[in-house]
Amino acid sequence: MNETCIFCRIARGEIPAERVLETDNVIAIRDVNPQAPVHVLVLPKTHVAGMLELPAEDVTWNRLIGTVQEVVRVEGLVNGFRVVVNQGSDGGQTVPHLHLHVLGGRTLQWPPG
Ligand code: AMP
Repeated sequence: MNETCIFCRIARGEIPAERVLETDNVIAIRDVNPQAPVHVLVLPKTHVAGMLELPAEDVTWNRLIGTVQEVVRVEGLVNGFRVVVNQGSDGGQTVPHLHLHVLGGRTLQWPPG
């Protein structure tokens, strides 16, 4: 755990967030600044700075993707959705704790900016 990381603090319950789903290892919260009618962040409870800090074989990836699938189901994204990871400064990452954005509920444009 990281004392000052905002997502660690949310995971610990120190900062409020609207939880969509929670398992022992993963939480899904609504983004405070939604970019689509459904905008949920899926993140590990333990601190991981970004994609490159989580080995490909780590079971956490399965847990994150499983939670994404469950979010899609409970949010009723029957027409599709987008999963995004913003990584590093060029990628536009603003919170250095790995999280998958799940966006849906409208037709999404491509390419992103
Ligand atoms: P990123 O820019 O990819 O690192 O995404 C960080 C996301 O976290 C942004 O979409 C923010 O709107 C969102 N965010 C920041 N603080 C909070 C918070 N306290 N609760 C929920 N979402 C947040």
